[in-house]
Amino acid sequence: MTARIRTDLDAIPAYVPGRSFPGAMKLASNETTQGPLPSVREKIAEAVATVNRYPDIRATELVAEIAAMLNVQPDNVAAGNGSVALCQEVVQIMCGPGDEVVYAWRSFEAYPIIARVAGATPVEVPLDDNHVHDLDAMLAAITERTRVVFVCNPNNPSGTVVRRSALERFLDAVPPHVLVVLDEAYFEYARENPEGEYTDGVELARGRRNVLVLRTFSKAYGLAGLRVGYAVGDPSVITALGKVRIAFAVNSVAQRAALASLAAKDELLARTDALVVERERVREALIELGYDVAHSDSNFVFLPLGDRSTPFTEGAAEAGIILRAFTGDGVRITIGDPDENDAFLKYAATAETRAI
Ligand code: PMP
Repeated sequence: MTARIRTDLDAIPAYVPGRSFPGAMKLASNETTQGPLPSVREKIAEAVATVNRYPDIRATELVAEIAAMLNVQPDNVAAGNGSVALCQEVVQIMCGPGDEVVYAWRSFEAYPIIARVAGATPVEVPLDDNHVHDLDAMLAAITERTRVVFVCNPNNPSGTVVRRSALERFLDAVPPHVLVVLDEAYFEYARENPEGEYTDGVELARGRRNVLVLRTFSKAYGLAGLRVGYAVGDPSVITALGKVRIAFAVNSVAQRAALASLAAKDELLARTDALVVERERVREALIELGYDVAHSDSNFVFLPLGDRSTPFTEGAAEAGIILRAFTGDGVRITIGDPDENDAFLKYAATAETRAI
């Protein structure tokens, strides 16, 4: 007889990451193509020398640096084992069985898994026709049982952002017992523009005690393999997150690497400018080829290919390019180095499934 594992887990899928194979061009996981800067590598090597010791459980120095960068207090900031761990902690501090977690769909694949594992009820609100969060519909979906609303901004996988004015209206209308999580994993790739009217969530969280912002070192800061993210919000929420967090969640190497990356922030953010240029080049080339391409403020673009998503992705894999298909909805293409993007565009130009 096997151990009596919770039977409700049978219906919950495990999180499936972007796949790859040796020699493939991996444009599937929204990673940074460049490795850590020499200054960051140096700190990583130094930190390795003391891994016989436990890390600082509160990541005090890192939290203080993040707080200084954002002009908030250290008690407004928590570090976590990637921002996905912080998503899980949020649901743990807010939800018991039967409580509701509202989010857009499609959005980050971890939200439904985290909600269901907690015994909470996922409430999915479809994106609008432009693949943008429908905040009015999300507001209408909030009930007495709602505890958390995730707003993924920019949204993964569509890449779209919500307008500042719409988000402000939404936050003002959400009942105060509901925690709104602004998941800004792709914050550093967003730019002010007429279509996007992008908002810095930390600014919106000032004076709003039920707003929590999540960011990560995995994308623009290039530390996906080390697992560091952070939350910014009201001290009551930050304190509660610390109670459910696995002890020593952010390891000592990750803490040093994140600090070194903050010290090299200007250089790392300059890389995002180069990526945005490439993103726009890829997007325009795809439009030129006749594809419908969602607006993107992230390090990826989304092709809403519907039923053609899986064949498109399979064809790309045959050409040695790994993309991420969201069956029935679309394909997400991470922006890579210029030569990788060229290889993808070459494939897109010949793909039989293209939308013209
Ligand atoms: N939020 C969103 C929207 C994401 O796309 C991701 C990563 N794919 C995460 C959070 C988690 O990132 P990490 O745990 O690496 O910080």
